[in-house]
Amino acid sequence: MTRDIPGGFTGPDPARGHRWRDAALSQPAEQRRADVLVLGGGMAGLAAARALTLAGVEDFALLELESEAGGNSRAASLGGLACPMGAHYLPVPSDDAPELQDWLEQIGLRRRVAGRWTYDERHLCHSPQERLYWNGAWHDGLLPLDGVGAATLDQYRRLSRLIDEARRVQRYAMPAVRLPVTETVRALWALSFAQWLDGHGLNDPHLRWYLDYACRDDYGAGAAAVSAWAGIHYFASRHGFPAPGEDSEAEPLLTWPEGNAWLAQRLAAGLGDRLHTGQGVLRVRPGHHGVEVDSVSPDDGRIIRWQARAAVVTLPVFIARRVVDPLPPVVAARTAGLRMAPWAVVNLRLDEAPKDRGGAHPSWDNVTYGTTGLGYVDASHQSLQRVAGPRVWTWYLPLGDEPDARRALLEKPWTHWRDRALAELSVPHPDLPARVREVAVTRYGHAMAIPAPGSLHEGPWHDDRLAFAHADWAGYSVFEEAFTRGHLAGQHIARRLRG
Ligand SMILES: Cc1cc2nc3c(=O)[nH]c(=O)nc-3n(C[C@H](O)[C@H](O)[C@H](O)COP(=O)(O)OP(=O)(O)OC[C@H]3O[C@@H](n4cnc5c(N)ncnc54)[C@H](O)[C@@H]3O)c2cc1C
Repeated sequence: MTRDIPGGFTGPDPARGHRWRDAALSQPAEQRRADVLVLGGGMAGLAAARALTLAGVEDFALLELESEAGGNSRAASLGGLACPMGAHYLPVPSDDAPELQDWLEQIGLRRRVAGRWTYDERHLCHSPQERLYWNGAWHDGLLPLDGVGAATLDQYRRLSRLIDEARRVQRYAMPAVRLPVTETVRALWALSFAQWLDGHGLNDPHLRWYLDYACRDDYGAGAAAVSAWAGIHYFASRHGFPAPGEDSEAEPLLTWPEGNAWLAQRLAAGLGDRLHTGQGVLRVRPGHHGVEVDSVSPDDGRIIRWQARAAVVTLPVFIARRVVDPLPPVVAARTAGLRMAPWAVVNLRLDEAPKDRGGAHPSWDNVTYGTTGLGYVDASHQSLQRVAGPRVWTWYLPLGDEPDARRALLEKPWTHWRDRALAELSVPHPDLPARVREVAVTRYGHAMAIPAPGSLHEGPWHDDRLAFAHADWAGYSVFEEAFTRGHLAGQHIARRLRG
């Protein structure tokens, strides 16, 4: 039956990037100048461009490989229904992200009402937020609770205490960009989260499944592949690890049917003709008096040579390493152990919601216990009229733990990823294949840097002409890191231009 479901690939085309990667350079067809170049138009690049504007630098050009800005935070539309191709939510930012708070205020999402900060309720995730399918029924929340034994509950409580203790010893923050790298941080980066858990005797299978899920969700790879710092930071920088019986209210978060593309589109809107899409950066040559950049149009191979006084490099770090020549030795050293997680995202357009098994009500985020995928998000959840009818489900598959996943993403047909999604989601929804009308598969060969043990992400680097920013520098690919790092890099370059 699934053979008849139409669909295909959407989003970044791997061939587009690869085509020019090793291409012999022909002569530039055109020369251009700008005071500043912003290289890459993901959230970090867009935030850098905004920071330049705020600082009064108007003469800049943002060069983006794809046909639109947004990077991992772009959207698709299936049958007229918007859905995310990647990032889909932003937790309400804490006071550690003042630049982000300011921007959310500027676009009207954050307001002071009767002396208290509030967020636009239309965009705060509606309840119910999340549920877990296990033991044949849906349960509220994602931590397996109903039916687990006393030993499991005891391990949940012990981890909760350990996370509280970790927060007392070391400050954790989101974004981590401002936190000093202390001896505690170094020690936690040296071992894997799985080793840290083993060391504390936290080996309960339900707990370990949940923690593995959390790591795959945020880092694209499981607890054995990420550092203990990353595993602890996931909880300690936000809500802690709520032990059973403790107040475990869902974390407030902002989301839209099209995911974080809603945010990307608002950042890109003010750029006008300074946004140059379809421009792949081939070479970045810092010199004594400025920066020379060659960009190529992947469609016709036409090369533009740009001269600028400075550049903000917000390219994914594995690309920055390749195109910046010479690469400052400190950047080479800090990014040497980089490991990237591939991902696949499958959007399924349904004619109506499939039948639901008993238990907790359909939620925004719906996860099945024990699967390799992360479950599905319902893009129509935020609709004010929750009626039956067409909808899009977005299924997320992190591939950082699967051998040869990058090659599989290049070589397997789109139907392979469709069928994996259907196989997993048909367990809680057996009639799903009959409901699906269209499928769109998005591939990310190098979606995000894995915060692997021993690869301490020591933050970006900048001098008078170059500043680096991207979520990869954090080893934590989230909006807060990309935005804040982009903002700070843009500010830095604006200050240097003023002398
Ligand atoms: C599947 C998935 C789901 C996610 N979900 C969430 C979520 O729900 N919430 C969240 O906060 N975060 C999420 N993230 C993390 C997301 O990566 C960050 O939130 C953020 O979008 C990263 O922004 P960035 O600018 O650092 O990087 P990127 O998005 O990687 O931006 C880099 C940009 O550089 C461009 N580029 C690359 N090569 C070149 C070149 N040679 N020349 C010119 N341009 C180039 C790219 O096209 C891209 O636009 C998710 C990531 C993935 C992959």
